[in-house]
Amino acid sequence: MDKEMIQIAVPSIGDEEFQALMNPITSGWLTQGPQVKAFENEFAKMHGTNYSLATTSCTSALHLMLLSAGIGPGDEVILPSFTWIATANAVVYCGATPVLVDIDLDTFNVNFEEIIAKITQKTKAIIVVDLFGLCVDIPKLRSLIPSNLLIFEDAACAAGASINGAMAGSLGDGAAFSFHPRKSITTGEGGMFITQNKDFANTAEKLRNHGAEISEEQRHNGPQPFLLPEFKVLGFNYRMTDLQGAIGLVQLKKLEKFITERNTIAQIYKRELADLEWLHLPASPSGGTHAWQSFVTYVDPKLGKSFRNQLMQKLFDLKISTRPGTHAIHMLEYYSNRYNFKENDFPKSTLANNLSMAIPLHNQLSNSDIERVINALKMVKAM
Ligand SMILES: *Cc1c(COP(=O)(O)O)cnc(C)c1O
Repeated sequence: MDKEMIQIAVPSIGDEEFQALMNPITSGWLTQGPQVKAFENEFAKMHGTNYSLATTSCTSALHLMLLSAGIGPGDEVILPSFTWIATANAVVYCGATPVLVDIDLDTFNVNFEEIIAKITQKTKAIIVVDLFGLCVDIPKLRSLIPSNLLIFEDAACAAGASINGAMAGSLGDGAAFSFHPRKSITTGEGGMFITQNKDFANTAEKLRNHGAEISEEQRHNGPQPFLLPEFKVLGFNYRMTDLQGAIGLVQLKKLEKFITERNTIAQIYKRELADLEWLHLPASPSGGTHAWQSFVTYVDPKLGKSFRNQLMQKLFDLKISTRPGTHAIHMLEYYSNRYNFKENDFPKSTLANNLSMAIPLHNQLSNSDIERVINALKMVKAM
């Protein structure tokens, strides 16, 4: 009997989201409007922050976040080398210099000593990444670095996650989230910039809407129909549609349940795979909630990249899809060429790049899927 492919990720989206689209569609207000506003408000409430701006993606949220703090040419921004390329790209979009640092292999998150070693007179901000949904301890980092430095959070994978009782995105100077289908909740494409800083929020709001001094809603609601907005800065169109806002509102209500289910699966994997001495399992937070955007393992460094690749091929043949965790920025051609990075500059990021493997984790996994993944991993090394 032919088994079906177990996918690495599947969005949980259906009738409720479909029904929610009726509101913007029948109202005729399709771009950023009341649905986006409601989504922003609920998101801010859940993540313990004052200001939230929905965007076209996490990448555009990261860009707005850095621009809102005035980051530009001559500034250095420190970020981990093991992350999705967008974290670094956002820095480059601003004309600033990305300064890479290495990670800890047990968490895949940035190493604080490495950050401290890279701080210079030009350093303006640090972007920490809550990779795969595991929050970085921002208060601890804050206590170790000069107080004038901003700490931004790439929380693309961390909606609904927490650390020591504080929600992802609530502890730094700003945070960016993603609603791409690979993340825990989705709006197709989409993102959110949240901050406690009123000036950052005001600046980002203008930049999101072409740099216009007044918004479409203000113009729509009147009373001065002759008004055209003034444009004092170079802006962008980074607005989310109200169709996405309506879907996001429904998805957000399910986020806690999604994370609880993902955590249950993660704990089963951790229990059942604990005996595989050649496979390192992801860390759980000591105090807080992991969002488990992905369950990312890595194979023993002694076995190497070719072993990891063969393993992934064998699992694929068993109809189990896996993916490398993410990539090392310094090994990507654009970055290695432009900034002259060498593979050995960030050895742990290189190892993570070569050895990591995400196994299926999503809210559509059945118990028999989970069992198939576990059994395959237990026998695949001998195959
Ligand atoms: C997914 C992801 C992004 C990009 O998100 P988009 O919404 O696709 O722009 C950025 N950073 C990290 C760490 C991610 O995982």
